[in-house]
Amino acid sequence: MDLKQHIRSIPDFPKPGVMFRDISTLLRDADAWQVALGRLARAVAPGRPDLLAGVESRGFLLAAPLASKLGCGFVMLRKPGKLPGRTVSLTYELEYGSDSLHIQEDAIEPGQRVVVVDDLLATGGTLAAAIKLLQKVGADVVASAVLIELGFLNGRSKLGIPVTALVRYD
Ligand code: IMP
Repeated sequence: MDLKQHIRSIPDFPKPGVMFRDISTLLRDADAWQVALGRLARAVAPGRPDLLAGVESRGFLLAAPLASKLGCGFVMLRKPGKLPGRTVSLTYELEYGSDSLHIQEDAIEPGQRVVVVDDLLATGGTLAAAIKLLQKVGADVVASAVLIELGFLNGRSKLGIPVTALVRYD
């Protein structure tokens, strides 16, 4: 199955000049959704992760069912102000301004093998921050997985770990 055919491209969202790759159309197609999860599971399993970490919010849509399929735990990397209890955070630069990701300080046991999952890899800033944050709390981040990679931005060069992407735009 060609998963790209199930991804909708919406011009000028969220701002003029940006082509937004929309996975809503893939998620609402039961077969495409299953195929995507199956392919991600096959790519991620050899890394023998203990946990999958999902990046809020579309990363959760992939990481949680994938973790369940693989028999792994699932951990949330969230935007500020969402997680209860003590958290550890990391701030990273965006094109305009900055953002931060948080994790609960006891979410990972030292040395646990973690695969970090998001919907899309663009410049790599988000996943690079996610990886650093996971390492800060003691994770052994073994790989990352995304549904979509914007290859022309070469975000994977920022990550320093193997990246699986099911669909690529060049
Ligand atoms: P990066 O930090 O530049 O790699 O951007 C990746 C983050 O932005 C991911 O968390 C994505 O959810 C989001 N993102 C950027 N562009 C798109 C898009 O075209 N479709 C869906 N999400 C996007």
